[in-house]
Amino acid sequence: MSAQLTKTHSQRDTDRLVAAGWTLKSEFRVAPNDEPYEYLLAWEHGGEAAYWRAKTWDEQGCKVCRQQWLSRGEIPNRLGGANGGVLLYRCDTCGTFWEETTREAHEITEAEARKVFPHLFQEAENHA
Ligand SMILES: [Zn+2]
Repeated sequence: MSAQLTKTHSQRDTDRLVAAGWTLKSEFRVAPNDEPYEYLLAWEHGGEAAYWRAKTWDEQGCKVCRQQWLSRGEIPNRLGGANGGVLLYRCDTCGTFWEETTREAHEITEAEARKVFPHLFQEAENHA
């Protein structure tokens, strides 16, 4: 039986596939110290491979935060930003973390938020 293979181009997509059961086989870099630009993963369990699927708009957050995005283009609790102009928000009603890029906004998990915005979590924990 041959393993199924797939490739991703971001650490986050790779993490999501690994969480779904994929095995990370190799990372491709331009130079030894560079960030990886491509990840090769294999599905080694047999049967149908499990894929991570993006949530639809209606599956993200709650009615309150979705409506705030649609009517105001943001939600009130803006936590801060990261390199590349990415902003992090958290819904006061459901607690969902939202990441806003230059193109759109989408729900992310707390683990993903900690990866992209580690300084925001460090500050909060230092003051605790
Ligand atoms: Zn919400």
